[in-house]
Amino acid sequence: MPDKPDVIAVMGGTFDPVHNGHLRSALELRQLLALDEVRLVPCHQTPHREQPQRSSQQRLHMLDLAVAGEAGLYIDDRELRLDQPSYSVLTLQGLRKELGDEAVLCWVMGVDAFAHFTSWYKWREILTLANLIIMTRPGFELVSGSEEKRLWQERAVEVSELYLHPFGKVLPVSLPSQLEISATYIRQQLSQGQSVRYLLPDSVINYIGTHKLYVKVS
Ligand code: ATP
Repeated sequence: MPDKPDVIAVMGGTFDPVHNGHLRSALELRQLLALDEVRLVPCHQTPHREQPQRSSQQRLHMLDLAVAGEAGLYIDDRELRLDQPSYSVLTLQGLRKELGDEAVLCWVMGVDAFAHFTSWYKWREILTLANLIIMTRPGFELVSGSEEKRLWQERAVEVSELYLHPFGKVLPVSLPSQLEISATYIRQQLSQGQSVRYLLPDSVINYIGTHKLYVKVS
């Protein structure tokens, strides 16, 4: 039997700041899918939304603190090293080059993000580079008749089949813990002087506190 290829998942985001919703889902994905690595990839300039509140270096530092000591979770700062918009397709091209043709490369996103996938820059090319792991959410349905729904129906695979496909498939995953935490909520709470304890790691909270990162300047 041939060797099992490396199976690597990439979770892109602003991570402004990273929180337990990101971290717990990364860890659960790694366990559920027997992934060799989950890479959290902070973006630099965001093509699809307003710019992050905190600098690239600060967001990167919070990520480093958050994954310290957790085997299999890594931070990949390639988007921050480029002075250009962070397009997933460019990131995946770079990763594919480094990892080789055999590696099973997967881009992770929530189903709410996937609902707009065909508006992404060069989305067809993304599917020639990676699979999509889509985290489902209770109560969220794709619009019937949409291109995304069609992609889902045509390309869906089971967990046990993932390692057979280096790219091009869609794997829907329902994670046991669905933490309804968002960075937006954390920023709001901090700007109102409220505690964010238990929503993100203490090491990150301490860093935010020391540098007064999300305090409203009046
Ligand atoms: P914001 O509130 O600023 O929009 P966010 O909390 O949604 O931020 P992002 O950095 O935009 O976080 O998300 C990065 C990735 O993590 C995306 O793929 C997103 O779908 C996923 N994600 C965000 N929140 C959660 C959560 N609570 N549980 C699981 N995955 C999440």
